[in-house]
Amino acid sequence: MSKTKYVFVTGGVTSSLGKGIISASLAKLLQARGYSVAIQKFDPYINVDPGTMNPYEHGECFVTDDGAETDLDLGHYERFLNIPTSQANNITTGRIYQAVIEREREGGYLGKTVQVVPHITDEIKRRIMLLGENDDYDIIITELGGTVGDIESLPFVEAVRQIIWEKEDQDTCVIHLTLVPYLAAAKELKTKPTQHSVKTMLEYGVQPDVLVCRTEHDLGTDLRKKIALFCNVKSSAVIESIDVETIYDVPLKMQREKLDKVVLNHLKLSSKTEPDLEGWKDFLWKLKNPKAELNIGLVGKYVELPDAYKSIAEAFIHAGSSNEAKVKLHYIHSELISEENADKKLGQLDGILVAPGFGERGIEGKIATIKYARENNVPFLGICLGMQCAVVEFARNVLHLEDASSTEMNPDTSNPVIAMMESQKSITKKGGTMRLGAYPCTVTKGSKAYSAYGKTKISERHRHRFEFNNAYLESFEKAGMKCSGVNPDTGLVEIVEVENHPWFVGVQFHPEYKSTVENPHPLFVRFVRAAFENAKTKA
Ligand code: GLN
Repeated sequence: MSKTKYVFVTGGVTSSLGKGIISASLAKLLQARGYSVAIQKFDPYINVDPGTMNPYEHGECFVTDDGAETDLDLGHYERFLNIPTSQANNITTGRIYQAVIEREREGGYLGKTVQVVPHITDEIKRRIMLLGENDDYDIIITELGGTVGDIESLPFVEAVRQIIWEKEDQDTCVIHLTLVPYLAAAKELKTKPTQHSVKTMLEYGVQPDVLVCRTEHDLGTDLRKKIALFCNVKSSAVIESIDVETIYDVPLKMQREKLDKVVLNHLKLSSKTEPDLEGWKDFLWKLKNPKAELNIGLVGKYVELPDAYKSIAEAFIHAGSSNEAKVKLHYIHSELISEENADKKLGQLDGILVAPGFGERGIEGKIATIKYARENNVPFLGICLGMQCAVVEFARNVLHLEDASSTEMNPDTSNPVIAMMESQKSITKKGGTMRLGAYPCTVTKGSKAYSAYGKTKISERHRHRFEFNNAYLESFEKAGMKCSGVNPDTGLVEIVEVENHPWFVGVQFHPEYKSTVENPHPLFVRFVRAAFENAKTKA
């Protein structure tokens, strides 16, 4: 029998209460007390993974080392815990049904009628327990996406109910996140939505053990007691989660509210050691006491929804704190930039990042942005599509290959400087078929990239179909755009940089996925430092 304990995090009243951040914060506190903790997320939508969803639908798609395209909450888990997640950490309804239907087609149900209960719920239970099978973790936190009461969440809540029923009391703990709204006209915080949401849980047979109440104002003792009484939990298990300045305050806030102690008590685990959060506090102190402020532009086409660039924004927070500088990130729509207005739109920036993306929309604005950064010595970082655009810009404006393009944008170009890999050409299905996950890269000594990483062997995560076309490599290098990172197995160009420029680096991979509080990503740290230097020259 596995000794692993299971914590479930559900949400009620509304979505967007921050279940991911609460889960990651609790995990951080338990980890800081010496427990080994994993977090996983179950999403109730039918897509097998979020990889095929538009960023407007779902925000960023986070990519793991093993190439899973996952929910952006997994990014929070990695950033808080500093341990990598994998395919097993994010399961959707689609993946559950896919597994059950495949088994049914193989005749795996021996003539039975296949039903939501028990077959779908059994598959959910199996997946929930999977991470704990080898006793690798003391505690596994499972976040259920969606809101309790939604039709699509039902099989998940039922699976959780069954696991609680099967296990001893001290082996599971249910944390329910709710909202305690403030009615300005009545000048009162209202507990009824929380009560109703707990009643819904009870209808499904699940009694929450801990309530985390999102609120804009202090709950006070009386309200805590009232919530405790009517929701059938101990007063100490009513945790206030008041709005804070940054998500990185939440673990300390939850520690003050004793969320970790309440959960450990419930699980009958001792508080091994007092939590060691010195590194975290140091990061926060630097974040809140910056010595300088920098303006960095993020040029992309999904800027209306900042969640589309979540990991990039967080990587800047980590790199800013590490440089003791506050990075003010300006989201700039690539469709609004042209060579004519570039100076007006970008002139105030200390550094420019051109974002990843798919498809033609906004491409010419990205290329105009890159030309401006290259010609005006503005520190530049291009990620994935941003790197590909830097290659196209260089081809057009330095190599004078006027119609140079990526075959993603112009399949008929006579100069396909970015083209599809042979292995991608025969692929017809869109889901999960890009170059995904971690690949090794060899960094050239003496390059800008090397000055960031300080080593030649690195591994970074990918998510793309198109690549630098090596037929052009020699002419690029002669003209001053060098390949400074290459895949040792395939020879694919992974990093390009421009000589005679303070900081112009384009990467085919996504460094933002690997930046954590404990390990800010070196490319972001160096890029922010270059922006810092640039700002000083203007002052
Ligand atoms: N659309 C480009 C490709 O598929 C870049 C993808 C990205 O920026 N993630 O290669």
